[in-house]
Parts: sequence; structure tokens; C-alpha cells
Amino acid sequence: MVKTHIPGFPRIGAQRELKFALENYWHGKTSRNELVDMAKTLRMQNWNIQAESGMDFVTVNDFSLYDQVLDHSVLLGVVPQRFSDGSCDSFDNYFRMARGRAPSGSATRACEMTKWFDTNYHYLVPELAVNQQFILNPEKLLAEIAEAQQLGHQVKPVIPGPVTYLWLAKCAAEEFDKLTLLPALLDSYKGLLKLLARKNIDWVQIDEPALTLELTPKWQEAYREAYQTLSTCGTGLKLLLTTYFGALDTNLDLTAYLPVDGFHLDAVRGSDEFIRFSERLRSDQVLSVGAIDGRNIWKTDISAVAERLKRVADQRGDNFWLSTSCSLLHVPVDLQQETGFDPELYSWLAFARQKLAEITLLKQTLQGESSDQLAANLRDVTARTQSQRVHRIEVKRRVNGLMPQDGERGLPYAERAIRQQQKLQLPAFPTTTIGSFPQTTDIRSARARFRRGELDEITYTAIMQSEINDCIERQERYGLDMLVHGEPERNDMVEYFGEQLEGYTTSQLGWVQSYGSRCVKPPIIYGDILRKEAMTVSWSRYAQSLSNKPVKGMLTGPVTMLQWAFVRDDQPRSETCLQIALALRDEVVDLEQAGIAAIQIDEPAIREGLPLKQSEWEYYLQWAVYAFRVSASGVQPETQIHTHMCYAEFNDIIQAIADMDADVITIETSRSNMELLEVFTEFRYPNEIGPGVYDIHSPNTPTVEQIQALIEKAATLIPAERLWINPDCGLKTRGWDEVATSLINMVAAAKILREQR
Ligand code: GLN
Ligand code: ZN
Repeated sequence: MVKTHIPGFPRIGAQRELKFALENYWHGKTSRNELVDMAKTLRMQNWNIQAESGMDFVTVNDFSLYDQVLDHSVLLGVVPQRFSDGSCDSFDNYFRMARGRAPSGSATRACEMTKWFDTNYHYLVPELAVNQQFILNPEKLLAEIAEAQQLGHQVKPVIPGPVTYLWLAKCAAEEFDKLTLLPALLDSYKGLLKLLARKNIDWVQIDEPALTLELTPKWQEAYREAYQTLSTCGTGLKLLLTTYFGALDTNLDLTAYLPVDGFHLDAVRGSDEFIRFSERLRSDQVLSVGAIDGRNIWKTDISAVAERLKRVADQRGDNFWLSTSCSLLHVPVDLQQETGFDPELYSWLAFARQKLAEITLLKQTLQGESSDQLAANLRDVTARTQSQRVHRIEVKRRVNGLMPQDGERGLPYAERAIRQQQKLQLPAFPTTTIGSFPQTTDIRSARARFRRGELDEITYTAIMQSEINDCIERQERYGLDMLVHGEPERNDMVEYFGEQLEGYTTSQLGWVQSYGSRCVKPPIIYGDILRKEAMTVSWSRYAQSLSNKPVKGMLTGPVTMLQWAFVRDDQPRSETCLQIALALRDEVVDLEQAGIAAIQIDEPAIREGLPLKQSEWEYYLQWAVYAFRVSASGVQPETQIHTHMCYAEFNDIIQAIADMDADVITIETSRSNMELLEVFTEFRYPNEIGPGVYDIHSPNTPTVEQIQALIEKAATLIPAERLWINPDCGLKTRGWDEVATSLINMVAAAKILREQR
């Protein structure tokens, strides 16, 4: 009999219960017990959902109060020195590691956070000491196992694997080889497995997603060593070595010959690799096939998948398991809560709960049972492939008709710059901002009331216009050279455009954990993208009518629009991206026609779209850059195109950034003391740059001297005539007082430098 399970379930709760419980606890509004109780309730619900959906195991230890990697660091005793000052107990110390502060204990620098592979989830980076000791602290894990067993569940705990854990960790000593810690780490794992073996458990899921990366021989060897060691510890426990987020490719043989009892493979991104993999296994080894997409929200074509799996399923018999490709952490919890989708769209979707039902339906189908559900599934997925709402012939034609020259500006940067300067007449070191200004409670409440139908369009427009008025007036007073309208009408830089484009939709409760208590609600791209009408022109035109200074138009770029959404899976991402690029291109042209002389197309997500395997980078960057260029190239050379990116590390993609050929790029650099600018110097980046001169994430306001020093530093790296002066990122999370002081100081610094020239 085929067995079923999942690598993990979302822990935030269908109504984001965990988020609110955490925040209430952190802000001292509720007691620790209330948080602990909520966590327990959520775990119980999640296990019940799995059991009721027919899973043979419930997954335990996928739950976390903040992050599963942080949990594992605590379990292994990897707690940096600065958290051992004894100023609070372990419960709050955990939150100090996560966020630098907790209801008790002193404030300390939090652990670093970074993206979990190519997802939008962020984990806390383990900090290893050169002489790191691993001291087991398995209380949380053991308690949750006991909890699930008391509820009568068949338990399969999950832990991060040792090699992936080391891979994700960092060490303060730069030259240090993390792998020297592997033997000590493995001792610790052996101890852990021995403890688990006493808990009436058959299987332990051990997550090694690093196996889907391109590993060097040294890291491949680490895998052999690790699993050789763990296989000889004689506990009788079976390990399910779990890989996801891609194909094993060059690590396929390495993985297949690791001495474990079972494997889990991603059969969505890894497509049919599981067939080849299966051939390498002994018949007594388990193969768990992740055939339902854990990274997206589309209903699975059950009959088609069953067909793909059938042969291997028959061959392996009892040792064939069914699952989702990866943990369901990356999708929203329950589609049934959504009331806003029309029935057609609704019938195409599956969130976490629905994916569990799909696993069971797939199992029944593989066993030769046909059912009404299967017929309904087939009807829904077929309808989607044929729907008028998905396919727009005019959009497809336009994408197919794109030529290389559609990504060309007509004149090279150097000539465009002369014309732009004639038109804009900007001083040296021109000052500007990244787009958004404080989103006050008044602004948010006006938007919410309009959305609920409590404000009519005329009143709402008047309120937004008065906000724009205020924003323009203030920028004039601060003395900025290039203004913005302030983005009061936008809730979110992607959702705002998603709501206006055909082919996009938004859910009501489709929240996905981003880190800790933070969640995002990605829009859903279901069909060909069409811009029915201008999206930003009336706001920009209004703003420009209020000032003699240029007001920048403000758009979100095609790659970011793609990257921060759930994307349709029935055509290549590159094609969807080009459709968005064309919609944006029309908007850019309309802005130009409306008298907007500078237009910013934000692309903060271009780097995070990089595929996990480096061999795929070139292809990705090629279409991503082209899509940006298509969006930017419909205008005259006189029109100045800006872009903005905010993340550390431009090294990997500096060539691509240059290829984007924006006239001006603004970037985040202040926290690194302009060091991130060095790569632009080395590369001889040819266009204009605005390196952020202060950190908008910090509540501290910068002084004139601090800003001046940073600009002077920047001027040693980039010729002064190509430097712009601006903050690191948008100002929407700040208050007006801080914004005023900071920008006044920024303008003062720019003026001093101008006079010195
Ligand atoms: N224009 C956007 C803003 O200022 C850019 C946000 C971002 O870089 N993430 O808010
Ligand atoms: Zn930014």
C-alpha cells in the first residue's frame, strides 16, 4: 500500500493566529502561557488536518515559534556568546536571538536573517564558533513528539540534516572551513537519533535540500561521510533523506548511494528524475515522490501525474510514498476561507489543505480507484487550459512579435544623458527619494474605507490628492531636486499593480510566512497579462501639476511583479514576465505623454530570482534583463529611466545591472559604508548611480556630517558628475518627523558638496 505524508505544514495558522499571538506576547499584551497555548492549538489542528486527510504520518517539529533553523541551532547548542549573559530564561532568549529583544532580557544584536534557498521565507543564520561545541538540547523536539503521540498520531519528526545545516551556517572567522566541524556535529546527531529511537518512532525525516545545489567535491564528500556515520549508529531508526527545491542532477548518484532507508525527491521541479533515481535503489528502500507542487497554488492534474508515477509506483509497491514536493510552508493554508474568487478561478486553485486532499486522491487513482473527485479534478484542470480568462490571443501575439530592438533605447546612455540634462537642468549631486513617503494612519484608513465602499471615488481621490499636495509641498520645502508623488494610494508595490492588471488576482487570506511573525500575501498570476487602462498616470500628472521641479513616475518592474507573485505554471516564467513588461511599457509611454520626464521602474527582486543552480543564471538574467529593457524602451532618449534595487551584494549580477541600462540606478549602500559601491567602480559602471546615503530601516536620523562623509567616499568611487544623493529605500515605514530631519540634512550635505566643486 502506498504511504502518504508531507514534508511540513504551514504553522502561522489559517487566520495568522500565530502572528497575532507572537506580537501580543512581544508587546507585553498577553502572557507567555497564552502564546504557548496558541502554539499547542495550532500544532494540534495541523496534525488533525493531516490525519483527517488520510496521511499515514503526521509531521512533527515543522512547527516553530519563529524559524525551524533557529530551533535547530538551539537544539544543537549553537547559541552565540552574546546571548549567554543570563539576563533572561531560554524562552525569551530564543526571541532575543531571533529579533534582538524580548519581553525580558537585555537588547542584543539579533542573528542574521537570509533567504531560505530561492523562497521568500527567511531563516536565521546559525553562527558557528571556530571551536564550536554541540550540546544537545532536544526538549522542544521531544515534547512535540510526545504531544502528537498522546493525541494518537503516527509520528514522523523532521530535522534539518547536518550537511545542509553546516552549509547554511556562517562563521565569524572568515577563512575558517566549516566542514572541520562536521565530525563533532555528527556526534551530536548520533546522540539525537539515539534519543529519538526510544520514542516509538519508525521514521525520521532528515532535510537535505542542499543536495539540489551544485556541490563541490568537498561538500559531496561531506555527504558521504555524514550518512556513513549516521548509518552505523545502530539505533534502528529509519532515515528519510529529504531533498527539495530542484533536481539532484549532478548529485543524483551521490544521493542514491547514501546508506539510508528512504529518500524524498522533488518531482515537480525535478520532473521525471525520480524514475532514474528509483532504478538505483534497492527494492527495500523507500522512495517518497513529491508530485504535488509545494511552491505554488494550482490544482494538480491528478490523472496526468498518476500516469507519470504509475510504473515506479507499481515497481516499488509498499516502498512507494506520495507527498508534496517540499514543505507546504510556502503556500497559504486553506482555500476554503476565500470568498472573493469567482467560482471559475476558485476551481483552479489548491492551498495547503487542498493539497493534502490531492495526495490522497492521487493515491486512490494510483490504486486504480476512479471517483467523482477524480472526474471533477479532470474537469477543472481541463477548463483552466481552455479558459478565455487565461488565454488572450492579442497578448500572445504581441509577445511573439517582440524584436531585439524593442529592448533598445535608440541612443546610447552618453547621448541620452546630454539630452536629459538639457531638459531637466539638474544641479550637481541631484537629490531625490526612492518613492514612498510615510503611510500615516489617515492614509491607510482612507484606503481601507474606500475598499470597503465607505468612501466614494470622488472623496477618496480628493483625500489622496491632498496627501500628494502635502508631500510635494514638503519636498519643495526640504529642497529636493527631483520629487515623487509619495505613493499614498499603494498598499503594496506589487499588489497595487496586480489589482489593476487583467490576468492577476489577489486572495483575501492567502498569507505565507516570510519570517517570524511577518507574512506576505502574494498576488496570483493566472492568465495573460493585459493593461486595460493607465494605472498611475492620473496621480503622477496631478503631482507634476503642483511643481516646477520634475516629479518621477513610479512603477514596479516586470521581474519584481513576477517574483513576488504566485505565477501560472502553464507557460515559462520568461513569457509571463514579457507580458508584464509590455503592460508596463505602455504605462511608461503614457507617463511620458502626460509630461513626466523621469520614470522609475523598481526592480528590488531581480537578484532573488537567480536560480539555485549557477549554470542556469545566464539564461535567467538574459530574459530578466530583456524584460526590464522592454518595459523601459518605449520612450524618447530625453526621458530619464531610473531603477531601484535594495539588497546587499551586487557582485554576482553587476553585468546584468549594467545591461539593464537604466539612466539612473539607486541602491542600498549606507549600512556597508559604501563598500557595496566598489563593485560598480571595478566594473566601471557607466551610467548614473544614487548610492543610498542613510539607512531608512533605522529610526536614527543621520547628521549632515555623516551624509557628507558618505558622499565624499562615494565620490572617490564614482565620478561626481554621475552621482545622485538619496536615501537607501522608500520611506513608507518612517514617521514624518524623522523624514523631515533626514532629508533636510541630506539636502544640506549635497549643497555643501556642490559649493566645494
Ligand atoms: N518605490 C518603492 C518605495 O519607495 C520601492 C520599494 C522597494 O524598494 N522595495 O516604497
Ligand atoms: Zn528599496
